[in-house]
Amino acid sequence: MRILIVEDEPDLLAGLAQALREEGYAVDTADNGDDGLFNAEGTDYDAIVLDVMLPGMDGREVLRRLRKTKKTPVLMLTARDQTRDRVKGLDAGADDYVVKPFDLEEIFARLRALIRRSANQSSNLMEIGAVRINAAARTVTINGQMVELTAREYSLVEFLARHRGELVTRTQLYEHLFDENECSLSNLLDVHVSNVRKKLGAEFIVTRRGYGYCIE
Ligand code: CA
Repeated sequence: MRILIVEDEPDLLAGLAQALREEGYAVDTADNGDDGLFNAEGTDYDAIVLDVMLPGMDGREVLRRLRKTKKTPVLMLTARDQTRDRVKGLDAGADDYVVKPFDLEEIFARLRALIRRSANQSSNLMEIGAVRINAAARTVTINGQMVELTAREYSLVEFLARHRGELVTRTQLYEHLFDENECSLSNLLDVHVSNVRKKLGAEFIVTRRGYGYCIE
């Protein structure tokens, strides 16, 4: 899952980016509205965290312009005294908002809910044969036994599971699992796929040679 954060406070931006990476997300960042919009329009993010108060183009304007072309889920960050901004943000097409200062756990939970909703999944539990995925806890079991996955391996499994039965291309996986600095490492994906197969069985991820991957 790949997230874009648009926030102009350097400490908050860096802290949030690091926390989300530790949760296994690929994270791109922008510290102003113009760059944020440019990224948001150019990449299919799974969700965007967007501050309202930004230098130059503010968050509401970024959102208004983005909504002309994309439905990417957007979580707005607003200050406590900006109640009217919240209402305007939701009017402009925001999917949810969090009031600063916020708990990281609250951001994680809301992002999970937004991503789940946009994938039309009503449940956090997915079952594929003997494999059971709990997207709320970010855990995977096989025949009831917990499987140790790295954060990135987990993201790969969850992304494929949410697109079960569909062909997922390598390009899609690179776009959703890795940030802009990692995208140039062409064998990174193969390494993660190979590790997941060792842990969940060789048949769990099917290769469609020349096209991509699929979970049946
Ligand atoms: Ca700000």
